[in-house]
Amino acid sequence: MTKYYDLVIIGAGPAGLTAAIYALRANLNILVIDKNVLCGGQILNTYEVDNYPGLPGISGIDLGMKLKEHAELLNAQFVEDEVCHINVDNEVKVIQTDNGIIQTKSVIIASGASHRLLNVPGEEEFSGMGVSYCATCDGAFFKNKEVVIVGGGDAAVEDAIYMARICKKVYLIHRRNELRAAKSLQNKLFSYTNVEILWNSSVEKINGEKKVASVNVVDNSTNAMKEIAVEGVFVAIGIVPNPIDLSKELHVDVNNYIIASEDCCTNINGVFVAGDLRTKELRQIVTAVADGANAVYSVENYLNSLTY
Ligand code: NAP
Repeated sequence: MTKYYDLVIIGAGPAGLTAAIYALRANLNILVIDKNVLCGGQILNTYEVDNYPGLPGISGIDLGMKLKEHAELLNAQFVEDEVCHINVDNEVKVIQTDNGIIQTKSVIIASGASHRLLNVPGEEEFSGMGVSYCATCDGAFFKNKEVVIVGGGDAAVEDAIYMARICKKVYLIHRRNELRAAKSLQNKLFSYTNVEILWNSSVEKINGEKKVASVNVVDNSTNAMKEIAVEGVFVAIGIVPNPIDLSKELHVDVNNYIIASEDCCTNINGVFVAGDLRTKELRQIVTAVADGANAVYSVENYLNSLTY
């Protein structure tokens, strides 16, 4: 007899791992697919998570590991694989991965989001040669050096704080005159004397020969251009949802986030969405884990409604 999972969860970040915990506690037969065996999703790039209730200051990696260990305690089954396509035309969904075919009655898409590119000359050329999207991963290479962080949200300010502890000087370059990041992070940032914020400014070009040597920065209010000598450029200008290819069109908003309310139900029966790639106001770890729980509640209702 063909084996169907009750639920396949795509993505092992906080949303996917929470969904796994809730689904296993509900006795569902589940599988978690992630392309990275190191579970945690974007939080793996976070040095210190200071707003997850009850665990102040925990590192992103430790939080990811704790969530995974919790799912493993409940005998969660993980596979490291990449989803290529899902046929959702019938009640049994057919997931095509790099390594084969998986059949399931329901799917939670929790594949999260990836970093947005700056799209300026030199970015691609020097990626990995001074241009980075993860301060926690690459920051140590820039000890006592001068670096630029681009962006004005939580990620950019967290990265600037992290790098200020390591580097001689950190330039935070933000296109407006106001940061989007949480006030508590801003206050922490402003306390570092080796951080200089370039307001109303944009990086126009990244220069170097074999590796980054400087950036051209334009003042958006005066159009004045200057070159700043730095060895590292950390781009933290937001995220874009990681798409999944389906046989039916998922309803998405203008920024390609999958449209679903708190119940995490998409426009396709049996397909649910949880975490950062769902349309929502606040993208945080706590809202991702809440999605994981809500999505499983909806999955259970859906499975109970099936006729076979
Ligand atoms: P974000 O909140 O969307 O901020 C992106 C920043 O980059 C904004 O300041 C934006 O400028 C700027 N930006 C966007 N496109 C740009 C471009 N092409 N060129 C230059 N600057 C550009 O993204 P994020 O900081 O990566 O955070 C993503 C989500 O994760 C957010 O919901 C955030 O709250 C959450 N997060 C939370 C934490 C935490 O709670 N500790 C940590 C990290 C992330 P404008 O301000 O002008 O739009």
